[in-house]
Amino acid sequence: MRRVVIAGNWKMHKTQAESLEFLQSFLPKLENTPEDREVILCAPYTDLGMMSKNLHGTRVRLSSQNVHWEESGAFTGEISPAMLTEVGVTYAVVGHSERRQYFGETDETVNLRARAAQKAGLTPILCVGESKEQRDAGKTETVISEQLKADLAGVDLSRLVIAYEPIWAIGTGDTCEAKEANRVIGLIRSQLSSGDIPIQYGGSVKSSNIDEIMAQPEIDGALVGGASLDPEGFARIVNYQS
Ligand code: 13P
Repeated sequence: MRRVVIAGNWKMHKTQAESLEFLQSFLPKLENTPEDREVILCAPYTDLGMMSKNLHGTRVRLSSQNVHWEESGAFTGEISPAMLTEVGVTYAVVGHSERRQYFGETDETVNLRARAAQKAGLTPILCVGESKEQRDAGKTETVISEQLKADLAGVDLSRLVIAYEPIWAIGTGDTCEAKEANRVIGLIRSQLSSGDIPIQYGGSVKSSNIDEIMAQPEIDGALVGGASLDPEGFARIVNYQS
């Protein structure tokens, strides 16, 4: 049995005050959430310490949206694995397409980040996915297979979550058809030597399509952007009907 993992990626949204307000509304809505669903919030760095205190004793886990591979040093603007673990963070997103597109992340840096995260005890949430051009050119499978090979070199597959996020479906409202997401995630799984890695789908997930997405046999969860910002909406996603 693979784990179900639902994560909200807030990206560059929510101040501390706003995230506290979110938690006050969101946490009571998890009372009837089935025990076997793992719930994660990927919050901005400035929110993590305060959120960690407020999440103590709850089922919600915290993730950063990136992490550097060095333990410390002259890397202005970066954050080290220990800075995150010390405040109670247990997951780190690595290789998000927005990092790859706008901030020059490469498979090499993504791999360094994933390995450093694990070394410090963080579980990486590795994002992979193709662009519209790559899909239209029939290169989806090749692109993803190359990303996986490079990003996962030396990574411990027993402490990992993967998110399939087709770039053309992110923030566009243009969700990948559930069956197609299921097909690609099946291909991702077939390339991994371990069968029990949770693999999420991400890209325009909302409360109106989560049931269909989660009904797919290969899909183990969701990485939710825009729809995770509203506590009611994200609670509806977490409490999807199975
Ligand atoms: P949206 O849900 O806003 O499309 O974002 C998806 C995403 O990038 C999550 O990491």
